[in-house]
Amino acid sequence: MAGKEYDFVIAGGGSAASTCAMRLVRDFGFSVLILERGPRETAPLMKMPAGYMKYLNREDFLEMHHTVPQPQLGGRGPIVPVARALGGGSAVNAMVYMRGQKDDYDSWANWLGSNQEWSYADMLPHFKGVEQNSRFSEPYHGIAGNLRISEPGYLSEAAEDYMKACQSLGHPYNPDFNGERQNGVGVMQHTYGTWNGRKERSDAKKAYLDPLAGNENLEIVTGAQVDRIIVENGRAVGLAYRVGPEVRTVRAAREVLVAAGTYNSAKLMMLSGLGPAEHLRSFGIDVLADLPGVGENLQDHHEVPVIAAAKGKYGYFGEDRGLKSVINGLEYLLFNAGPVTTTGIETCLFYDPDGGDRPTIQLYCVPIVYLDRDLSSAEPTWGVTFTSCLLRPKARGTVKLRSADPGDKPLVNCNFFGDPDDLRITLASLRYAREIMATEPFKSKLKVELLPGAAMTDDAALTKFCGQTVKTNYHPSGSLRMGPENDPMSVVDARLKVRGVDNLRVIDCSIIPLIPSGNTNAPAMGIGSKAASLIAQDHGKAA
Ligand SMILES: Cc1cc2nc3c(=O)[nH]c(=O)nc-3n(C[C@H](O)[C@H](O)[C@H](O)COP(=O)(O)OP(=O)(O)OC[C@H]3O[C@@H](n4cnc5c(N)ncnc54)[C@H](O)[C@@H]3O)c2cc1C
Repeated sequence: MAGKEYDFVIAGGGSAASTCAMRLVRDFGFSVLILERGPRETAPLMKMPAGYMKYLNREDFLEMHHTVPQPQLGGRGPIVPVARALGGGSAVNAMVYMRGQKDDYDSWANWLGSNQEWSYADMLPHFKGVEQNSRFSEPYHGIAGNLRISEPGYLSEAAEDYMKACQSLGHPYNPDFNGERQNGVGVMQHTYGTWNGRKERSDAKKAYLDPLAGNENLEIVTGAQVDRIIVENGRAVGLAYRVGPEVRTVRAAREVLVAAGTYNSAKLMMLSGLGPAEHLRSFGIDVLADLPGVGENLQDHHEVPVIAAAKGKYGYFGEDRGLKSVINGLEYLLFNAGPVTTTGIETCLFYDPDGGDRPTIQLYCVPIVYLDRDLSSAEPTWGVTFTSCLLRPKARGTVKLRSADPGDKPLVNCNFFGDPDDLRITLASLRYAREIMATEPFKSKLKVELLPGAAMTDDAALTKFCGQTVKTNYHPSGSLRMGPENDPMSVVDARLKVRGVDNLRVIDCSIIPLIPSGNTNAPAMGIGSKAASLIAQDHGKAA
Protein backbone atom coordinates (compact mmCIF):
# COMPACT_ATOMS: atom_id res chain seq x y z
CA MET A 1 0.00 0.00 0.00
CA ALA A 2 2.88 2.31 0.85
CA GLY A 3 3.44 5.01 -1.73
CA LYS A 4 0.23 4.48 -3.70
CA GLU A 5 -1.88 7.61 -3.88
CA TYR A 6 -5.64 7.73 -4.41
CA ASP A 7 -7.79 10.68 -5.42
CA PHE A 8 -9.84 10.17 -2.26
CA VAL A 9 -9.22 8.19 0.90
CA ILE A 10 -12.19 7.48 3.15
CA ALA A 11 -12.08 6.73 6.86
CA GLY A 12 -14.88 4.21 7.44
CA GLY A 13 -16.75 1.99 5.00
CA GLY A 14 -20.35 2.33 6.15
CA SER A 15 -23.67 3.31 4.56
CA ALA A 16 -22.65 6.83 3.54
CA ALA A 17 -19.04 6.03 2.60
CA SER A 18 -20.03 3.12 0.36
CA THR A 19 -22.64 5.20 -1.46
CA CYS A 20 -20.22 8.06 -1.99
CA ALA A 21 -17.34 5.78 -3.05
CA MET A 22 -19.56 3.97 -5.54
CA ARG A 23 -20.53 7.21 -7.23
CA LEU A 24 -17.00 8.70 -7.17
CA VAL A 25 -15.65 5.60 -8.92
CA ARG A 26 -18.54 4.57 -11.16
CA ASP A 27 -19.99 7.96 -12.14
CA PHE A 28 -16.89 10.16 -12.10
CA GLY A 29 -13.91 7.86 -12.65
CA PHE A 30 -11.97 8.87 -9.52
CA SER A 31 -9.77 6.47 -7.57
CA VAL A 32 -10.86 5.75 -4.01
CA LEU A 33 -9.48 3.87 -1.04
CA ILE A 34 -11.87 2.83 1.75
CA LEU A 35 -10.37 2.01 5.14
CA GLU A 36 -12.85 0.05 7.25
CA ARG A 37 -12.01 -1.27 10.70
CA GLY A 38 -14.57 -4.09 10.62
CA PRO A 39 -14.62 -7.33 8.64
CA ARG A 40 -15.43 -7.56 4.93
CA GLU A 41 -18.21 -10.08 5.50
CA THR A 42 -20.68 -10.50 8.31
CA ALA A 43 -22.38 -13.86 8.97
CA PRO A 44 -24.77 -15.87 6.76
CA LEU A 45 -27.52 -15.35 9.36
CA MET A 46 -27.12 -11.57 9.08
CA LYS A 47 -28.14 -11.77 5.43
CA MET A 48 -31.50 -13.36 6.25
CA PRO A 49 -34.22 -10.85 7.13
CA ALA A 50 -34.89 -12.42 10.56
CA GLY A 51 -31.25 -13.16 11.34
CA TYR A 52 -29.97 -9.79 12.56
CA MET A 53 -31.85 -10.14 15.87
CA LYS A 54 -29.42 -12.89 16.88
CA TYR A 55 -26.56 -10.41 16.73
CA LEU A 56 -28.18 -7.36 18.36
CA ASN A 57 -26.66 -8.01 21.77
CA ARG A 58 -23.35 -9.36 20.53
CA GLU A 59 -20.14 -7.61 19.60
CA ASP A 60 -19.26 -9.61 16.45
CA PHE A 61 -20.24 -6.74 14.16
CA LEU A 62 -21.25 -4.06 16.64
CA GLU A 63 -19.35 -1.74 18.97
CA MET A 64 -21.22 -1.16 22.24
CA HIS A 65 -21.11 2.35 23.65
CA HIS A 66 -22.14 2.63 27.28
CA THR A 67 -23.31 6.21 27.48
CA VAL A 68 -22.28 8.22 30.53
CA PRO A 69 -24.63 8.01 33.56
CA GLN A 70 -27.73 10.10 32.90
CA PRO A 71 -29.08 11.92 35.98
CA GLN A 72 -32.46 12.40 34.28
CA LEU A 73 -32.68 8.61 33.79
CA GLY A 74 -31.98 7.86 37.45
CA GLY A 75 -28.26 7.50 36.74
CA ARG A 76 -28.68 4.87 34.04
CA GLY A 77 -26.47 5.05 30.93
CA PRO A 78 -28.24 3.32 28.01
CA ILE A 79 -26.12 1.24 25.65
CA VAL A 80 -25.91 2.44 22.07
CA PRO A 81 -24.43 -0.04 19.56
CA VAL A 82 -22.85 1.15 16.32
CA ALA A 83 -21.74 -0.87 13.31
CA ARG A 84 -18.35 -2.47 12.81
CA ALA A 85 -18.34 -4.11 9.37
CA LEU A 86 -17.96 -3.18 5.73
CA GLY A 87 -21.30 -1.65 4.75
CA GLY A 88 -21.60 -0.17 8.26
CA GLY A 89 -25.07 0.17 9.68
CA SER A 90 -26.65 -1.14 6.51
CA ALA A 91 -24.91 -4.50 7.06
CA VAL A 92 -26.09 -4.98 10.64
CA ASN A 93 -29.29 -3.02 10.98
CA ALA A 94 -32.98 -3.90 11.13
CA MET A 95 -33.30 -2.94 7.44
CA VAL A 96 -36.23 -0.52 7.82
CA TYR A 97 -36.12 1.82 4.83
CA MET A 98 -37.34 5.28 5.78
CA ARG A 99 -36.22 8.65 4.45
CA GLY A 100 -38.03 10.91 6.90
CA GLN A 101 -40.28 13.82 6.03
CA LYS A 102 -40.05 16.40 3.26
CA ASP A 103 -40.01 19.05 5.98
CA ASP A 104 -36.84 17.55 7.47
CA TYR A 105 -34.74 18.30 4.42
CA ASP A 106 -36.47 21.61 3.72
CA SER A 107 -35.56 22.63 7.26
CA TRP A 108 -31.89 21.79 6.50
CA ALA A 109 -32.04 24.05 3.44
CA ASN A 110 -33.68 26.82 5.45
CA TRP A 111 -31.09 26.46 8.19
CA LEU A 112 -28.33 26.76 5.62
CA GLY A 113 -30.05 29.74 4.03
CA SER A 114 -29.67 27.95 0.70
CA ASN A 115 -33.36 27.32 -0.03
CA GLN A 116 -32.45 24.72 -2.64
CA GLU A 117 -29.30 22.85 -1.65
CA TRP A 118 -30.15 19.93 0.75
CA SER A 119 -33.91 20.56 0.38
CA TYR A 120 -36.23 17.60 -0.18
CA ALA A 121 -36.41 18.42 -3.89
CA ASP A 122 -32.62 18.44 -3.99
CA MET A 123 -32.29 15.14 -2.10
CA LEU A 124 -35.05 13.21 -3.87
CA PRO A 125 -32.92 12.32 -6.94
CA HIS A 126 -30.25 10.98 -4.57
CA PHE A 127 -32.76 8.75 -2.77
CA LYS A 128 -34.30 7.58 -6.03
CA GLY A 129 -30.94 7.15 -7.75
CA VAL A 130 -29.79 4.25 -5.57
CA GLU A 131 -33.16 2.55 -5.20
CA GLN A 132 -34.48 -0.57 -6.87
CA ASN A 133 -37.97 -0.61 -5.44
CA SER A 134 -40.00 -3.77 -5.90
CA ARG A 135 -43.38 -2.04 -5.59
CA PHE A 136 -43.24 1.72 -6.15
CA SER A 137 -41.91 3.87 -8.95
CA GLU A 138 -42.20 7.55 -9.95
CA PRO A 139 -42.59 10.18 -8.70
CA TYR A 140 -41.08 9.16 -5.34
CA HIS A 141 -39.14 6.00 -6.06
CA GLY A 142 -36.39 4.63 -8.23
CA ILE A 143 -36.31 1.22 -9.87
CA ALA A 144 -32.97 1.30 -11.65
CA GLY A 145 -30.56 1.47 -8.68
CA ASN A 146 -28.85 -1.42 -6.94
CA LEU A 147 -30.33 -1.03 -3.45
CA ARG A 148 -33.22 -3.44 -3.30
CA ILE A 149 -36.24 -2.28 -1.34
CA SER A 150 -39.25 -4.46 -0.65
CA GLU A 151 -41.94 -5.40 1.84
CA PRO A 152 -41.59 -8.19 4.40
CA GLY A 153 -42.18 -11.62 2.89
CA TYR A 154 -44.46 -12.49 5.78
CA LEU A 155 -46.82 -10.50 8.01
CA SER A 156 -47.60 -11.51 11.56
CA GLU A 157 -51.16 -11.59 12.85
CA ALA A 158 -50.15 -8.74 15.17
CA ALA A 159 -49.13 -6.58 12.21
CA GLU A 160 -52.52 -7.05 10.60
CA ASP A 161 -54.28 -6.38 13.90
CA TYR A 162 -52.22 -3.23 14.36
CA MET A 163 -53.31 -1.81 11.02
CA LYS A 164 -56.95 -2.56 11.86
CA ALA A 165 -56.77 -1.07 15.37
CA CYS A 166 -55.03 2.13 14.27
CA GLN A 167 -57.47 2.65 11.40
CA SER A 168 -60.42 2.17 13.70
CA LEU A 169 -58.92 4.93 15.87
CA GLY A 170 -59.00 7.22 12.83
CA HIS A 171 -55.50 6.92 11.40
CA PRO A 172 -55.31 6.57 7.62
CA TYR A 173 -53.72 3.53 6.02
CA ASN A 174 -50.48 4.61 4.40
CA PRO A 175 -49.14 2.28 1.68
CA ASP A 176 -45.89 4.23 1.24
CA PHE A 177 -44.20 6.06 4.12
CA ASN A 178 -41.59 7.41 1.69
CA GLY A 179 -44.21 8.79 -0.68
CA GLU A 180 -46.58 11.73 -0.65
CA ARG A 181 -47.10 11.79 3.11
CA GLN A 182 -45.77 10.04 6.19
CA ASN A 183 -48.87 10.09 8.44
CA GLY A 184 -50.76 6.92 9.09
CA VAL A 185 -50.32 3.23 9.68
CA GLY A 186 -48.88 0.69 7.28
CA VAL A 187 -46.23 -1.83 6.40
CA MET A 188 -42.68 -0.55 6.29
CA GLN A 189 -40.45 -1.25 3.33
CA HIS A 190 -37.04 -2.73 4.06
CA THR A 191 -33.64 -2.93 2.42
CA TYR A 192 -34.01 -6.48 1.26
CA GLY A 193 -34.62 -8.10 -2.08
CA THR A 194 -34.80 -11.53 -3.67
CA TRP A 195 -31.79 -13.19 -5.27
CA ASN A 196 -32.02 -16.71 -6.68
CA GLY A 197 -35.39 -17.17 -5.09
CA ARG A 198 -34.30 -16.10 -1.63
CA LYS A 199 -35.02 -12.88 0.26
CA GLU A 200 -31.81 -11.37 1.61
CA ARG A 201 -30.43 -8.17 3.07
CA SER A 202 -29.47 -5.53 0.53
CA ASP A 203 -26.69 -3.58 2.20
CA ALA A 204 -24.30 -0.93 0.94
CA LYS A 205 -21.56 -3.48 0.32
CA LYS A 206 -23.74 -5.75 -1.76
CA ALA A 207 -25.52 -2.91 -3.57
CA TYR A 208 -22.67 -0.50 -4.21
CA LEU A 209 -19.24 -2.04 -3.61
CA ASP A 210 -19.57 -5.64 -4.84
CA PRO A 211 -20.63 -4.57 -8.35
CA LEU A 212 -17.33 -2.65 -8.59
CA ALA A 213 -15.20 -5.71 -7.77
CA GLY A 214 -12.33 -5.76 -10.22
CA ASN A 215 -12.47 -2.01 -10.86
CA GLU A 216 -8.92 -0.80 -10.31
CA ASN A 217 -10.17 2.55 -9.07
CA LEU A 218 -11.68 1.10 -5.92
CA GLU A 219 -9.59 -0.42 -3.18
CA ILE A 220 -10.96 -1.52 0.16
CA VAL A 221 -8.89 -2.47 3.18
CA THR A 222 -10.85 -4.08 6.00
CA GLY A 223 -9.53 -4.58 9.50
CA ALA A 224 -8.01 -1.10 9.07
CA GLN A 225 -8.42 1.13 12.12
CA VAL A 226 -7.91 4.79 11.19
CA ASP A 227 -6.20 6.62 14.05
CA ARG A 228 -5.59 10.08 12.65
CA ILE A 229 -6.15 12.45 9.76
CA ILE A 230 -2.76 13.67 8.56
CA VAL A 231 -2.82 17.46 8.23
CA GLU A 232 0.13 19.38 6.77
CA ASN A 233 0.16 23.18 6.58
CA GLY A 234 -3.59 23.44 7.12
CA ARG A 235 -4.36 20.83 4.47
CA ALA A 236 -5.53 17.23 4.98
CA VAL A 237 -3.20 14.98 3.00
CA GLY A 238 -3.89 11.46 4.19
CA LEU A 239 -4.78 9.00 6.94
CA ALA A 240 -2.72 7.15 9.51
CA TYR A 241 -4.11 3.70 10.25
CA ARG A 242 -3.33 0.30 11.69
CA VAL A 243 -3.89 -3.18 10.34
CA GLY A 244 -3.25 -5.44 13.29
CA PRO A 245 0.03 -4.30 14.82
CA GLU A 246 1.20 -2.72 11.55
CA VAL A 247 1.08 1.08 11.40
CA ARG A 248 0.52 2.53 7.91
CA THR A 249 -0.15 5.84 6.23
CA VAL A 250 -1.80 6.66 2.94
CA ARG A 251 -1.97 9.91 1.00
CA ALA A 252 -4.87 11.43 -0.90
CA ALA A 253 -4.15 13.34 -4.10
CA ARG A 254 -7.40 15.29 -3.82
CA GLU A 255 -9.22 14.95 -0.50
CA VAL A 256 -9.64 13.03 2.73
CA LEU A 257 -13.22 12.02 3.54
CA VAL A 258 -14.42 11.22 7.05
CA ALA A 259 -17.24 8.65 7.36
CA ALA A 260 -16.63 6.67 10.53
CA GLY A 261 -20.16 7.20 11.89
CA THR A 262 -21.46 9.83 14.28
CA TYR A 263 -19.42 8.77 17.33
CA ASN A 264 -16.19 7.74 15.68
CA SER A 265 -16.05 10.54 13.11
CA ALA A 266 -16.13 13.06 15.98
CA LYS A 267 -13.49 11.04 17.84
CA LEU A 268 -11.25 10.87 14.76
CA MET A 269 -11.51 14.62 14.20
CA MET A 270 -10.54 15.33 17.81
CA LEU A 271 -7.64 12.86 17.82
CA SER A 272 -6.40 14.70 14.73
CA GLY A 273 -6.37 18.09 16.46
CA LEU A 274 -9.66 19.30 14.99
CA GLY A 275 -12.10 20.18 17.74
CA PRO A 276 -12.74 22.31 20.82
CA ALA A 277 -9.30 23.70 21.71
CA GLU A 278 -9.51 23.38 25.48
CA HIS A 279 -10.85 19.84 25.38
CA LEU A 280 -8.06 18.76 23.02
CA ARG A 281 -5.35 20.46 25.07
CA SER A 282 -6.58 18.70 28.21
CA PHE A 283 -5.41 15.47 26.52
CA GLY A 284 -2.16 16.96 25.23
CA ILE A 285 -3.39 17.05 21.63
CA ASP A 286 -2.02 19.85 19.43
CA VAL A 287 -4.85 22.03 18.18
CA LEU A 288 -4.78 22.41 14.39
CA ALA A 289 -8.22 24.01 14.13
CA ASP A 290 -10.33 25.17 17.05
CA LEU A 291 -13.76 23.82 16.13
CA PRO A 292 -16.05 24.19 19.17
CA GLY A 293 -18.90 22.32 17.46
CA VAL A 294 -17.04 19.02 17.15
CA GLY A 295 -18.85 16.47 19.33
CA GLU A 296 -21.80 18.78 20.06
CA ASN A 297 -25.33 18.63 18.62
CA LEU A 298 -25.64 14.84 19.15
CA GLN A 299 -29.16 13.60 18.45
CA ASP A 300 -30.62 10.12 18.52
CA HIS A 301 -34.07 8.62 18.24
CA HIS A 302 -35.11 6.87 21.43
CA GLU A 303 -38.05 4.71 22.37
CA VAL A 304 -40.09 3.50 25.32
CA PRO A 305 -42.15 0.28 25.22
CA VAL A 306 -45.56 -0.84 26.35
CA ILE A 307 -45.51 -4.63 26.51
CA ALA A 308 -48.50 -6.96 26.77
CA ALA A 309 -48.82 -10.74 27.01
CA ALA A 310 -51.39 -12.46 24.80
CA LYS A 311 -54.10 -14.95 25.78
CA GLY A 312 -52.90 -17.54 23.30
CA LYS A 313 -50.06 -18.14 20.90
CA TYR A 314 -49.50 -14.75 19.32
CA GLY A 315 -46.47 -13.17 17.69
CA TYR A 316 -43.02 -14.58 17.09
CA PHE A 317 -42.23 -15.93 20.55
CA GLY A 318 -40.49 -19.32 20.21
CA GLU A 319 -40.28 -19.17 16.41
CA ASP A 320 -36.48 -19.12 16.59
CA ARG A 321 -36.14 -22.15 18.85
CA GLY A 322 -36.20 -25.95 18.60
CA LEU A 323 -38.33 -27.66 15.98
CA LYS A 324 -40.07 -24.36 15.09
CA SER A 325 -36.78 -22.84 14.02
CA VAL A 326 -35.98 -25.90 11.87
CA ILE A 327 -39.38 -25.71 10.16
CA ASN A 328 -39.05 -21.94 9.64
CA GLY A 329 -35.53 -22.38 8.28
CA LEU A 330 -36.68 -25.03 5.83
CA GLU A 331 -39.64 -22.95 4.73
CA TYR A 332 -37.24 -20.12 3.98
CA LEU A 333 -34.66 -22.24 2.21
CA LEU A 334 -37.14 -24.28 0.17
CA PHE A 335 -39.96 -21.82 -0.50
CA ASN A 336 -38.61 -18.34 0.33
CA ALA A 337 -41.54 -17.96 2.72
CA GLY A 338 -42.43 -17.81 6.40
CA PRO A 339 -41.16 -15.80 9.36
CA VAL A 340 -37.51 -15.85 8.25
CA THR A 341 -38.49 -13.54 5.35
CA THR A 342 -39.34 -10.72 7.76
CA THR A 343 -37.33 -8.77 10.31
CA GLY A 344 -40.38 -9.04 12.56
CA ILE A 345 -40.74 -5.27 12.67
CA GLU A 346 -43.35 -4.97 9.99
CA THR A 347 -45.75 -2.14 10.79
CA CYS A 348 -45.66 1.26 12.41
CA LEU A 349 -47.84 4.30 12.94
CA PHE A 350 -46.58 7.82 12.27
CA TYR A 351 -48.60 10.39 14.18
CA ASP A 352 -48.46 13.37 16.52
CA PRO A 353 -49.89 12.76 20.00
CA ASP A 354 -50.61 16.52 20.14
CA GLY A 355 -52.91 16.14 17.13
CA GLY A 356 -50.76 18.05 14.64
CA ASP A 357 -50.32 17.13 10.98
CA ARG A 358 -46.59 16.51 11.19
CA PRO A 359 -45.79 13.22 12.97
CA THR A 360 -43.56 13.46 16.03
CA ILE A 361 -43.75 9.76 16.91
CA GLN A 362 -43.07 6.53 15.05
CA LEU A 363 -45.01 3.94 17.04
CA TYR A 364 -43.66 0.50 16.11
CA CYS A 365 -45.63 -2.70 16.52
CA VAL A 366 -43.19 -5.48 17.45
CA PRO A 367 -44.89 -8.89 17.60
CA ILE A 368 -42.85 -10.15 20.57
CA VAL A 369 -42.27 -9.27 24.18
CA TYR A 370 -39.33 -7.16 23.08
CA LEU A 371 -36.43 -7.22 25.45
CA ASP A 372 -32.84 -6.39 24.81
CA ARG A 373 -29.56 -6.00 26.60
CA ASP A 374 -30.87 -2.95 28.45
CA LEU A 375 -34.32 -4.20 29.36
CA SER A 376 -34.81 -7.57 30.96
CA SER A 377 -37.56 -7.15 33.54
CA ALA A 378 -40.33 -9.05 31.73
CA GLU A 379 -40.51 -12.78 31.09
CA PRO A 380 -40.40 -13.60 27.38
CA THR A 381 -43.78 -14.98 26.29
CA TRP A 382 -46.38 -14.64 23.53
CA GLY A 383 -47.37 -11.03 23.15
CA VAL A 384 -46.66 -7.66 21.56
CA THR A 385 -44.61 -4.56 22.21
CA PHE A 386 -45.61 -1.10 21.02
CA THR A 387 -42.64 1.16 21.21
CA SER A 388 -42.91 4.95 20.91
CA CYS A 389 -39.95 6.40 19.11
CA LEU A 390 -39.50 10.18 19.33
CA LEU A 391 -38.80 11.54 15.85
CA ARG A 392 -37.30 14.96 16.53
CA PRO A 393 -35.89 15.10 20.06
CA LYS A 394 -35.11 18.60 21.28
CA ALA A 395 -32.35 17.49 23.67
CA ARG A 396 -28.78 17.50 22.44
CA GLY A 397 -25.99 15.23 23.65
CA THR A 398 -22.24 15.22 23.21
CA VAL A 399 -19.33 13.08 22.08
CA LYS A 400 -16.05 13.76 23.91
CA LEU A 401 -12.69 12.09 24.05
CA ARG A 402 -12.11 9.64 26.88
CA SER A 403 -8.36 9.83 26.31
CA ALA A 404 -5.86 10.52 23.51
CA ASP A 405 -5.60 6.77 22.88
CA PRO A 406 -7.27 5.84 19.55
CA GLY A 407 -8.04 2.44 21.07
CA ASP A 408 -10.42 4.00 23.61
CA LYS A 409 -14.07 4.52 22.81
CA PRO A 410 -15.28 8.12 23.05
CA LEU A 411 -17.40 9.34 25.96
CA VAL A 412 -20.99 9.57 24.75
CA ASN A 413 -23.58 11.61 26.59
CA CYS A 414 -26.87 10.66 24.89
CA ASN A 415 -28.97 13.07 27.00
CA PHE A 416 -32.23 11.19 26.32
CA PHE A 417 -35.11 13.21 27.83
CA GLY A 418 -32.72 16.10 28.48
CA ASP A 419 -35.56 18.35 27.30
CA PRO A 420 -38.90 18.13 29.17
CA ASP A 421 -40.86 18.26 25.92
CA ASP A 422 -39.23 15.01 24.75
CA LEU A 423 -40.56 13.29 27.86
CA ARG A 424 -43.98 14.92 27.56
CA ILE A 425 -44.50 13.65 24.00
CA THR A 426 -43.20 10.19 24.89
CA LEU A 427 -45.54 9.95 27.90
CA ALA A 428 -48.49 10.96 25.73
CA SER A 429 -47.55 8.30 23.20
CA LEU A 430 -47.06 5.65 25.86
CA ARG A 431 -50.63 6.31 27.00
CA TYR A 432 -51.80 6.18 23.40
CA ALA A 433 -50.09 2.81 22.90
CA ARG A 434 -52.29 1.53 25.73
CA GLU A 435 -55.33 2.91 23.94
CA ILE A 436 -54.43 0.91 20.84
CA MET A 437 -54.05 -2.20 22.99
CA ALA A 438 -57.52 -1.54 24.39
CA THR A 439 -58.95 -1.41 20.86
CA GLU A 440 -60.14 -4.47 18.89
CA PRO A 441 -58.66 -6.80 17.68
CA PHE A 442 -56.09 -6.41 20.48
CA LYS A 443 -58.65 -6.01 23.23
CA SER A 444 -59.86 -9.61 22.91
CA LYS A 445 -56.44 -11.10 22.27
CA LEU A 446 -54.25 -9.52 24.93
CA LYS A 447 -54.23 -10.82 28.49
CA VAL A 448 -52.23 -8.44 30.62
CA GLU A 449 -49.96 -5.41 30.31
CA LEU A 450 -46.56 -6.61 31.49
CA LEU A 451 -44.78 -3.25 31.31
CA PRO A 452 -45.23 -0.63 32.63
CA GLY A 453 -48.23 -2.52 34.11
CA ALA A 454 -51.83 -1.28 33.99
CA ALA A 455 -51.67 -0.01 37.58
CA MET A 456 -49.01 2.51 36.67
CA THR A 457 -50.90 5.57 35.52
CA ASP A 458 -49.53 8.71 37.18
CA ASP A 459 -46.94 10.91 35.49
CA ALA A 460 -44.30 10.48 38.19
CA ALA A 461 -44.29 6.68 38.02
CA LEU A 462 -44.43 6.65 34.22
CA THR A 463 -41.56 9.15 34.08
CA LYS A 464 -39.50 6.81 36.24
CA PHE A 465 -40.46 3.93 33.94
CA CYS A 466 -39.30 5.96 30.92
CA GLY A 467 -35.96 6.55 32.63
CA GLN A 468 -35.58 2.84 33.37
CA THR A 469 -36.51 1.61 29.91
CA VAL A 470 -35.72 4.26 27.29
CA LYS A 471 -33.43 2.81 24.63
CA THR A 472 -31.85 3.94 21.43
CA ASN A 473 -33.45 3.34 18.04
CA TYR A 474 -29.80 3.16 16.82
CA HIS A 475 -29.72 6.47 14.95
CA PRO A 476 -26.97 8.68 16.44
CA SER A 477 -26.53 11.74 14.24
CA GLY A 478 -25.27 15.30 14.17
CA SER A 479 -21.94 15.38 16.05
CA LEU A 480 -20.21 17.37 13.26
CA ARG A 481 -23.06 19.49 12.12
CA MET A 482 -23.41 21.24 8.80
CA GLY A 483 -24.28 24.91 9.13
CA PRO A 484 -24.18 28.34 7.57
CA GLU A 485 -21.14 30.63 7.62
CA ASN A 486 -22.43 32.55 10.64
CA ASP A 487 -22.97 29.47 12.84
CA PRO A 488 -19.91 29.16 15.09
CA MET A 489 -20.92 25.62 16.11
CA SER A 490 -21.07 24.22 12.61
CA VAL A 491 -18.16 21.98 11.68
CA VAL A 492 -18.80 21.65 7.95
CA ASP A 493 -20.31 24.02 5.42
CA ALA A 494 -23.07 23.20 2.94
CA ARG A 495 -20.48 21.54 0.68
CA LEU A 496 -19.46 19.33 3.62
CA LYS A 497 -16.04 20.98 3.81
CA VAL A 498 -14.52 21.11 7.29
CA ARG A 499 -14.01 24.68 8.44
CA GLY A 500 -10.40 25.74 8.98
CA VAL A 501 -8.78 22.81 7.09
CA ASP A 502 -8.43 22.32 3.34
CA ASN A 503 -9.13 19.11 1.45
CA LEU A 504 -11.21 17.57 4.23
CA ARG A 505 -14.91 16.70 4.19
CA VAL A 506 -17.27 14.79 6.45
CA ILE A 507 -19.77 12.71 4.49
CA ASP A 508 -21.77 10.63 7.01
CA CYS A 509 -24.62 11.05 9.52
CA SER A 510 -22.46 13.26 11.72
CA ILE A 511 -23.17 16.23 9.44
CA ILE A 512 -26.92 16.12 10.09
CA PRO A 513 -28.04 19.45 11.59
CA LEU A 514 -31.54 18.21 12.61
CA ILE A 515 -32.24 14.50 12.77
CA PRO A 516 -34.70 13.34 10.09
CA SER A 517 -38.07 11.97 11.22
CA GLY A 518 -37.39 8.32 10.49
CA ASN A 519 -34.72 5.64 10.43
CA THR A 520 -31.35 6.95 9.33
CA ASN A 521 -29.90 4.45 6.86
CA ALA A 522 -31.67 6.00 3.85
CA PRO A 523 -30.59 9.51 4.94
CA ALA A 524 -26.99 8.27 5.33
CA MET A 525 -27.06 6.94 1.78
CA GLY A 526 -28.68 10.15 0.53
CA ILE A 527 -25.91 12.15 2.18
CA GLY A 528 -23.26 9.87 0.64
CA SER A 529 -24.73 10.30 -2.82
CA LYS A 530 -25.09 14.06 -2.45
CA ALA A 531 -21.51 14.26 -1.13
CA ALA A 532 -20.27 12.57 -4.33
CA SER A 533 -22.07 15.18 -6.45
CA LEU A 534 -20.61 18.07 -4.44
CA ILE A 535 -17.11 16.59 -4.63
CA ALA A 536 -17.37 15.95 -8.36
CA GLN A 537 -18.53 19.53 -8.98
CA ASP A 538 -15.66 20.91 -6.93
CA HIS A 539 -13.19 18.83 -8.94
CA GLY A 540 -14.47 19.98 -12.27
CA LYS A 541 -16.80 17.12 -13.16
CA ALA A 542 -20.44 17.70 -13.95
CA ALA A 543 -22.77 16.17 -11.37
C1 LIG B 1 -28.28 -2.32 15.40
C2 LIG B 1 -28.69 -1.25 14.47
C3 LIG B 1 -29.97 -1.25 13.91
C4 LIG B 1 -30.36 -0.24 13.03
N1 LIG B 1 -31.57 -0.33 12.39
C5 LIG B 1 -31.85 0.54 11.38
C6 LIG B 1 -32.97 0.35 10.54
O1 LIG B 1 -33.72 -0.63 10.65
N2 LIG B 1 -33.20 1.27 9.55
C7 LIG B 1 -32.39 2.35 9.37
O2 LIG B 1 -32.67 3.16 8.49
N3 LIG B 1 -31.33 2.54 10.16
C8 LIG B 1 -31.01 1.65 11.13
N4 LIG B 1 -29.88 1.80 11.85
C9 LIG B 1 -29.08 3.02 11.66
C10 LIG B 1 -28.36 3.12 10.32
O3 LIG B 1 -27.90 1.86 9.90
C11 LIG B 1 -27.24 4.14 10.49
O4 LIG B 1 -27.80 5.38 10.83
C12 LIG B 1 -26.41 4.33 9.24
O5 LIG B 1 -25.89 3.10 8.79
C13 LIG B 1 -25.28 5.32 9.54
O6 LIG B 1 -24.49 5.47 8.40
P1 LIG B 1 -23.07 6.17 8.50
O7 LIG B 1 -22.45 6.02 7.16
O8 LIG B 1 -23.21 7.51 9.08
O9 LIG B 1 -22.25 5.29 9.55
P2 LIG B 1 -22.00 3.73 9.58
O10 LIG B 1 -22.83 3.03 8.57
O11 LIG B 1 -22.10 3.31 10.99
O12 LIG B 1 -20.50 3.60 9.08
C14 LIG B 1 -19.37 3.93 9.84
C15 LIG B 1 -18.30 2.90 9.54
O13 LIG B 1 -17.05 3.40 9.96
C16 LIG B 1 -16.31 2.34 10.55
N5 LIG B 1 -15.34 2.97 11.47
C17 LIG B 1 -15.58 3.60 12.63
N6 LIG B 1 -14.43 4.06 13.15
C18 LIG B 1 -13.45 3.73 12.29
C19 LIG B 1 -12.05 3.93 12.27
N7 LIG B 1 -11.43 4.60 13.25
N8 LIG B 1 -11.33 3.42 11.24
C20 LIG B 1 -11.94 2.73 10.23
N9 LIG B 1 -13.28 2.51 10.20
C21 LIG B 1 -14.02 3.02 11.21
C22 LIG B 1 -17.37 1.51 11.25
O14 LIG B 1 -16.91 0.19 11.47
C23 LIG B 1 -18.53 1.58 10.26
O15 LIG B 1 -18.51 0.52 9.33
C24 LIG B 1 -29.46 0.81 12.73
C25 LIG B 1 -28.19 0.82 13.28
C26 LIG B 1 -27.78 -0.19 14.13
C27 LIG B 1 -26.40 -0.18 14.71
